[in-house]
Amino acid sequence: VIEINDLNKWYGHFHVLKHINLSVHKGERIVICGPSGSGKSTLIRCINRLEEHQQGTITVEGTELTRDLKNVTDIRKNVGMVFQGFNLFPHLTILENLTLAPTWVRQMPEKKAKKMAMDFLARVHIDSQAHKYPGQLSGGQQQRAAIARALCMNPRIMLFDEPTSALDPEMIKEVLDVMTELAEEGMTMVCVTHEMGFARTVADRVIFMDAGEIIEEAPPQEFFTNPTYDRTQLFLSQIL
Ligand code: ATP
Ligand code: MG
Repeated sequence: VIEINDLNKWYGHFHVLKHINLSVHKGERIVICGPSGSGKSTLIRCINRLEEHQQGTITVEGTELTRDLKNVTDIRKNVGMVFQGFNLFPHLTILENLTLAPTWVRQMPEKKAKKMAMDFLARVHIDSQAHKYPGQLSGGQQQRAAIARALCMNPRIMLFDEPTSALDPEMIKEVLDVMTELAEEGMTMVCVTHEMGFARTVADRVIFMDAGEIIEEAPPQEFFTNPTYDRTQLFLSQIL
């Protein structure tokens, strides 16, 4: 459902993504890891056009990302994204954060949107927090709300960019549990994360990036026990 072919991107003169090739199949769970500054966020942001690429092609569910805004809009309808910071609107309640896009973008009737939002909040186990403001929730609860908000748009693909790295240790697990449940339900997921326990148990493939390149790509079993490249071994020795 995601097909990336010889993708290149520059920030000015800086070659941030170099000859990236990646295909993600329906229902696949991909984990991307790698050192800070290696281009992980840039790559994942290119997939829903939060960043523009200069060379190569990105096709999502058969639609190629080009300057054509219609394609971008089509793709964003099917791709949900969760960031490191939770990006909830602080002046709206959790429930209002969830119903905003469905009612405005999808023109869903208010009542139906609320019902759906409450269902998703229940799925991430924070339905009791629906009428609070983001600032009144813990980081883990806010991130689960952000996941529920993305799910309200009924995405077929979910992108995660270090969703747990801003969280205290005791809250990391509750977010990873929600992500694991989502994976078990068959969601196609591309996750930038350094949570190697999650990668081991949930990922179908682990991708290691360094300096704008995909260095290594393997099932977790192989990736963790027998990495091919020195750079992967060095990285793993630093984070495990
Ligand atoms: P981290 O693990 O720290 O999140 P990352 O792998 O996600 O790192 P990116 O955020 O994709 O890395 O950044 C890759 C490189 O591109 C970095 O060297 C960064 O400084 C640079 N970069 C990122 N965004 C911009 C920008 N808007 N303009 C110029 N350079 C940028
Ligand atoms: Mg990043």
